Amino acid sequence: MFVKSFGCQMNVYDSQRMADTLAPEGYVETATAEDADLIILNTCHIREKAAEKVYSELGRVRRLKEAAAADGRKLLIAVAGCVAQAEGAEIIRRAPAVDLVVGSQNYHRLPDLIARARRDGKAVDTEFPLDDKFEHLAAPSLASTRARGVTAFVTVQEGCDKFCTFCVVPYTRGAEVSRPVDNILAEVERLAQAGVREVTLIGQNVNAYHGVGPGGRPWSLARLLGLMAQVRGIERLRYTTSHPLDMDDELIAAHRDLPQLMPQLHLPVQSGSDRMLAAMNRRHTRADYLAVVSRLRQARPDLALTSDFIVGFPGESEEDFAASLSLVDVVGYSGAFSFKYSPRPGTPGADMSDQVEDEVKSDRLRRLQQAIDRSQAAFNRNCVGRTLSVLLEGPGRHRGQLVGRSPYLQPVQIEAAPALIGAIAPVTITEVASNSLFGALRCAPEPALAGAGA
Ligand code: SF4
Repeated sequence: MFVKSFGCQMNVYDSQRMADTLAPEGYVETATAEDADLIILNTCHIREKAAEKVYSELGRVRRLKEAAAADGRKLLIAVAGCVAQAEGAEIIRRAPAVDLVVGSQNYHRLPDLIARARRDGKAVDTEFPLDDKFEHLAAPSLASTRARGVTAFVTVQEGCDKFCTFCVVPYTRGAEVSRPVDNILAEVERLAQAGVREVTLIGQNVNAYHGVGPGGRPWSLARLLGLMAQVRGIERLRYTTSHPLDMDDELIAAHRDLPQLMPQLHLPVQSGSDRMLAAMNRRHTRADYLAVVSRLRQARPDLALTSDFIVGFPGESEEDFAASLSLVDVVGYSGAFSFKYSPRPGTPGADMSDQVEDEVKSDRLRRLQQAIDRSQAAFNRNCVGRTLSVLLEGPGRHRGQLVGRSPYLQPVQIEAAPALIGAIAPVTITEVASNSLFGALRCAPEPALAGAGA
């Protein structure tokens, strides 16, 4: 089986869970698509022309299927993820080589769907089921978890009720669903046993988390983080992606009170202009956003903030754009993603009349990225000379090097022995490059601590 993942971390996580679900059926992951008897394309709808890219990828995969058939092998092709959710059976009509289409809420049904595709020729399942897929997804084996390293993502929430006018998520992933607390706890405990030391709780709108707790009442994300912090072996926690509106007092206080919660937060703003924020249906103003940032920084003064920006949303004037530029300076981000607006079919933004010319978007994107780069460089420069705790994750760029992550999520390259993978080491930062820091071990941690439990 070969699973190719497109897009965000949630898709990477989903791909792993698909592999875990199929492992008891005898499916083993192959290193290349050529060796597989099942290829799953786990698609993403966020980027422009996402569906077209999937169809062109399917053209390549179809040739593999033909080559397998010539060798007397049957190769099944599955399309999963947000494009599958949006296009449904249309995928099989346009790409007859596809055997099954599975929506983002239905991965736990993959074994049945594969059996149906083998029996009936085709299978499609893109319903939003009433039963919760989290209850049904198979747990990864200890061995496969170990092989995936010392950091892990855990989906705790899916879908979104916010309906920003540029975004397809509420349509492709559906309404907000939160995973029950005990279900998450069991997974995080398993990860800790397998040697994972850092867990990032993920969800499209993760800080709207409201999963059922042990007492039958909904728990907040802050409370969930508090419980995860008690899991033996889990030394670091993060969460992503958050909406500014859902940064409540309890969650802000967690940044002050939970030492395991890393001082880093991705808090998308999309625009610095109130006019654009209203057009995007973000439900907050620039002042609201800055007030949240200020409260967060009171709770955790060294908090590193990253964000997402869209330039050229319909109707964006030069003045609106200038407000985004100035916000980068005001907040002092440690990094940010920025994109040109591109209309997504079915979203209100796609039907807005005052679309911005591509040339203007490109120019604004270039200027915004320069501002973000300056802000990131300043943040990184401030780390030089400081000693940061770095979780050593794996081999670095060069022989003899390891790469790890600082509390602020910066990649840090150091000279260290492979035995230290999994250790959290004090590293003095000596140098910065555009996207990485370089440092030296201040004192080597006990090798026995490395990869605890691994
Ligand atoms: S809050 Fe995020 S996921 Fe939800 S609609 Fe807006 S951009 Fe999309």
